[in-house]
Amino acid sequence: MTNHNPIQRVQCNVKTCKYNNDGHYCTASSIQIQPMNAKNVQETDCATFQSNNMQG
Ligand code: SF4
Repeated sequence: MTNHNPIQRVQCNVKTCKYNNDGHYCTASSIQIQPMNAKNVQETDCATFQSNNMQG
């Protein structure tokens, strides 16, 4: 579900996500980050990501 207000205190640069606003902000109503046992920044992902590419 999208929300017009960016999540405060979260900057996200993932322009290919349908929730992203201009490469700066997330407009999802909430986000989930995983996995639970991530050991470094590369392993940490936004599980709420959804592609804004209509092809999937
Ligand atoms: S849902 Fe995740 S990847 Fe998409 S804009 Fe928000 S924080 Fe970024």
